Amino acid sequence: MAAHDSVEQKYVYDFAEGNKDLKDLLGGKGANLAEMTNLGLPVPPGFTITTEACKAYLTTGREPDGLAAQIEAHLESLEREMGRRLGDPDDPLLVSVRSGAKFSMPGMMETVLNVGLNDRSVIGLSNQAGGNDRFAWDSYRRLIQMFGKTVCEVPGEEFEHALDEIKSAKGTHNDLDLDADDLRGLVDAYKKIFAKHTGREFPQEPREQLDLAIRAVFDSWNAERAILYRRQERIPADLGTAVNVVTMVFGNLGPDSGTGVAFTRDPGSGAQGIYGDYLANAQGEDVVAGIRNTVPLQELEQLDKTSYDELLGIMARLEEHYKDLCDIEFTIERGKLWMLQTRVGKRTAAAAFVIAGQLVDEGLIDLDEALHRVNGAQLAQLMFPRFQLDHEFEAVAKGIGASPGAASGKVVFTSARAVELAAEGESVILVRRETNPDDLNGMIAAKGILTSRGGKTSHAAVVARGMGKTCVSGADELDVNVPAKKFTVGGHVVNEGDIVSIDGTTGKVYLGEVPVMPSEVVQYFEGELDPETTDDALVRSVHRIMTHADAARRLRVRTNADTGTDAARARRFGAEGIGLCRTEHMFLGDRRELVERLILASGEREREDALAALLPLQRADFVEIFREMDGLPVTVRLIDPPLHEFLPPLEQLAVNVAVAQERGEDVAKEEALLAAVRRMHEENPMLGLRGVRLGLVIPGLFAMQVRAIAEAAVAVVRDGGTACPEIMVPLVGAVQELETVRAEAERIIAEVVGDSGVEVLIGTMIEVPRAALTAGQIAEAAEFFSFGTNDLTQMGWGFSRDDVEGAFFWRYLELGIFGISPFESIDTDGVGRLIRIAAEEGRAARPGLKLGVCGEHGGDPDSVHFFHEVGLDYVSCSPFRVPVARLEAGRAAITTTGSDSR
Ligand code: ADP
Ligand code: MG
Ligand code: MG
Repeated sequence: MAAHDSVEQKYVYDFAEGNKDLKDLLGGKGANLAEMTNLGLPVPPGFTITTEACKAYLTTGREPDGLAAQIEAHLESLEREMGRRLGDPDDPLLVSVRSGAKFSMPGMMETVLNVGLNDRSVIGLSNQAGGNDRFAWDSYRRLIQMFGKTVCEVPGEEFEHALDEIKSAKGTHNDLDLDADDLRGLVDAYKKIFAKHTGREFPQEPREQLDLAIRAVFDSWNAERAILYRRQERIPADLGTAVNVVTMVFGNLGPDSGTGVAFTRDPGSGAQGIYGDYLANAQGEDVVAGIRNTVPLQELEQLDKTSYDELLGIMARLEEHYKDLCDIEFTIERGKLWMLQTRVGKRTAAAAFVIAGQLVDEGLIDLDEALHRVNGAQLAQLMFPRFQLDHEFEAVAKGIGASPGAASGKVVFTSARAVELAAEGESVILVRRETNPDDLNGMIAAKGILTSRGGKTSHAAVVARGMGKTCVSGADELDVNVPAKKFTVGGHVVNEGDIVSIDGTTGKVYLGEVPVMPSEVVQYFEGELDPETTDDALVRSVHRIMTHADAARRLRVRTNADTGTDAARARRFGAEGIGLCRTEHMFLGDRRELVERLILASGEREREDALAALLPLQRADFVEIFREMDGLPVTVRLIDPPLHEFLPPLEQLAVNVAVAQERGEDVAKEEALLAAVRRMHEENPMLGLRGVRLGLVIPGLFAMQVRAIAEAAVAVVRDGGTACPEIMVPLVGAVQELETVRAEAERIIAEVVGDSGVEVLIGTMIEVPRAALTAGQIAEAAEFFSFGTNDLTQMGWGFSRDDVEGAFFWRYLELGIFGISPFESIDTDGVGRLIRIAAEEGRAARPGLKLGVCGEHGGDPDSVHFFHEVGLDYVSCSPFRVPVARLEAGRAAITTTGSDSR
């Protein structure tokens, strides 16, 4: 704000002054309390101190000018409205002080209830409540406990111990059995604990209590746990938190009072109905703390029908207003209902789809909005097989769902043992306190990874996600003892070889083997479940939203598939062609021998013979794929990896030669191979003789592949099919490379195709940074570009994926150098800029140039939005990712503003 600006900044808003769209300023809790107030719902009066005030405090280290006076003014008007003064000895007003940032954040200061109580006003409170001493002293002890713990960092256990002691002295487990005298005694004990840890008496001055609590909320923004959480969840560090000061209402006034939480629908399944818990004669924090057992909300109907009916009416009203599932907190004070919080509720992936569908049916939202409310990550989650959980299985621990999936297997504690058992065909779960780069082989061998330490960005989590392997990290209830080859959890001892099951979506850990069931969503995509007739609400909703996404999207979605089987499955999943058909596998298996002949060929004749033998095999592969993709484009990439990758490893050859010599056998061929491997060795194979370079160095190799493609297409067309081949040249960095390959290819194609009507496009991958930067030239020789984002990322950053993911990515993520691995989600600033440049300059040189992307980024939700925005024509991804890409392409097309649902 400009210095000459004479209008003082407004730091405090009465609930009546705010609304739900002011989350940035008032935080989520404050904005929604204001919204409910303005809807005329029964919200205890109060006010919100803005995030601006918090930010000013955090930058300067003191409350900004004017804040104290504004708080004073709002407090006075609150006191007038309530007819009571804060902490008045005879008739006290009490308030709660509640933190509330834009996004709800564990790790920040919780709530302090009953602010305003002291040695004198506790008597006044009792009188207010008709001489209810027990209630007054219970409220006071709660204040000292919460204030001590959250404002003054007194260890919470000390208060809990003191409470337990009094209870056991009374011979009870139930805090309701404590009477006024017990609680008065507890207050004394609490005060002593407070004084011992803070070096001062518990503050008796109500306004000082309030100010200290407000300040503690501000400070808690920078608590270590809060910082860590923000970093992991990509929440900006400079948002600050608001503070809500709310008139206390009391759920602990007796059996006609109580407190509860509820959802307007089931956040687990999405089913309609009332889901909630209620606790009579208690204050809000008791429900969460699980001090006593709650009852299902439905039972409130018997206890207090009037409040129950009113609550149901309010919940219906909130849903209609927010047009979404809401969760709420409420308190009943002597038969009077009060609303203390609402927000759009968190939900599982399945519930997200089901609820979006229901809300469309109910006329609350349209299909665009339904599509906006679900996402590809949720859909991907629903496509994993799940554990079939019945009553028999109860989780023994819960960690962080670090990499989704469901895995069961024998427990092992070392990488070496994992490799050993896996080699014997066993499924194993690698259990470690935390993993490090030495565990890589074990992680590869294991079905799943379970650690007792570390979050979503730990080594285990990052590497497992990169491998698509199930992982639960940070299950801190586990006590892992690697030398003793066992872990303990909740009284169970689990030894090496025992079976456990881990759920990488929920983070839950089970003992024994939990049966796995296939995803109904995959069954639907496979065509095994009819969305029109099934009674599965999830499948019906997924179908409906997918249909809408398909209609909305501009991006086409293709698949990466190298075989007819993959192609067929991807087509069922909605692929509109193949964006990347790798030809490497066509050189494997029993064809290796032909490749060896090709490499060892001593003259033109031998080489031509080897190629001629490969030709019909490749042609047959292409025929199968073109048939499966009848009528759809198929991009075939000419051979990309270095040829020596097809030869046996050096050590193995050396041993073979030695053994054969020992036996006096003929070793000529082995020796020749060994020599070839030595000759062809590369320091950096990734940057060596591969891709287009091979085609230019080894005569006839690309020509054979081009011929096989063209002949296959002609064969399919002759059979009445439609083949649309697109030949893709890998690793091009200069237009001259492409021109050379193109000249030869065109000649062959013209010769093969004749008048069959087959049309073959020739294009290139853009995966070398130089290609992106000279795209204008390259486009002269290319009918299409396909961005190979994996190599473009590797070469753009100058690191190889295989080497770095285990070595230092976890550290980079921890430090926030990466928000997410650039192999998972496209680095829009760097690699993305190369794509942008190539797309623009390519299209400028050749209008209508077809642009696509192949590589796993094509199935990553955030990347899909980027590719949409850059104007690509299609993305291509693995078959299982095709539905995710379709959904996100639809969302990209309808999303005009950013969503901040978290
Ligand atoms: P959280 O964000 O952790 O839920 P809240 O600020 O919502 O923290 O408060 C914790 C508990 O205290 C909740 O159950 C809430 O309903 C209750 N609570 C907060 N303010 C009041 C109040 N003014 N009167 C009665 N209960 C309250
Ligand atoms: Mg709450
Ligand atoms: Mg590549």
